[in-house]
Amino acid sequence: MTDRQDPSAPRVLGQSALTASPLAWGMWRFKGESVDDAQALVETALDTGLTLLDTADIYGVDTPQGFGSAEALLGQVLRQAPSLRARMVLASKGGIVLGVPYDSSAAYLTQACEASLRRLGVEHIDLYQVHRPDSLAHPAETADALTRLREAGKIGEVGVSNYAPSQVSALQAHLDFPLASIQPEFSALAIEPLSDGVLDQALQHGLGVLAWSPLAGGRLGGGDDRAQAVIAALDVVAETHGVSRAAAAYAWIIAHPARPIPIIGSQKVERIREAAQALTVRFTRAQWYAVLTASRGVALP
Ligand code: NAP
Repeated sequence: MTDRQDPSAPRVLGQSALTASPLAWGMWRFKGESVDDAQALVETALDTGLTLLDTADIYGVDTPQGFGSAEALLGQVLRQAPSLRARMVLASKGGIVLGVPYDSSAAYLTQACEASLRRLGVEHIDLYQVHRPDSLAHPAETADALTRLREAGKIGEVGVSNYAPSQVSALQAHLDFPLASIQPEFSALAIEPLSDGVLDQALQHGLGVLAWSPLAGGRLGGGDDRAQAVIAALDVVAETHGVSRAAAAYAWIIAHPARPIPIIGSQKVERIREAAQALTVRFTRAQWYAVLTASRGVALP
């Protein structure tokens, strides 16, 4: 078995120097009753091998603490336990603005990234991602801001999220270094990246792929008729391998040749630990296509 086939092999993000874990941990839902509880979750993720931590300045906007609070909470954890910083690949995002909703202008992105650094209490973000495409920002301007942040050592590598392939290409055309990663929504219920060119572009250029909402935000725990059909197909594989349904859902994502990294969204210690089971699962072709067919709701041609 080659590294390319081994689900547990580390992932090199694009042509960058950044190596990431095959499973990441997401902090969209990260809100602590206490810094100790938050630290316990971070340590669980790291101990489980989910060493890429994905946050964003907007995370926490739905809490009383508001915009920036998920980053600020991670910052508190890092101040309390500074040694954790060296154990993680720290990924964050900027470019969503409440009430706007997007701004990837050079001035905004620069100050957003600097504000993230302050909240996190770090000097360097390993992977900085533009959160969503901004129709009003010329990609040359966005590229200029990202290049300056990188040259200043404030960020390591650059990624984008929710970009169409054409938008990735437009931004890449104005960068003199390769984009490291993309971050689409991708799961057994969100299958568009298989057909809209997003994963093909990742394969073409070797971009790292971070898959957001790998359980469709929890809908793969229940849901409508379509979800039930997908669950039934996943359960066949989960039972064969003696793993949880969630682990089978993550493994379905990982099986794609672009080797997407599912960003585990659970904030429960047991479920974070359980995610590692995904790396033991091997889908047969027929099992993988059975999940896809259930998700499509119609047979493949
Ligand atoms: P998800 O894994 O699809 O959903 C996680 C949710 O499912 C949690 O509320 C979790 O609850 C629940 N859940 C129900 N049953 C579960 C089970 N058996 N195992 C695990 N979780 C279960 O991921 P997500 O939270 O929606 O998104 C993951 C990450 O993707 C985010 O943290 C963020 O980093 C990233 N993201 C990025 C974007 C973007 O635009 N770039 C958008 C959305 C998300 P418990 O916490 O109670 O386990």
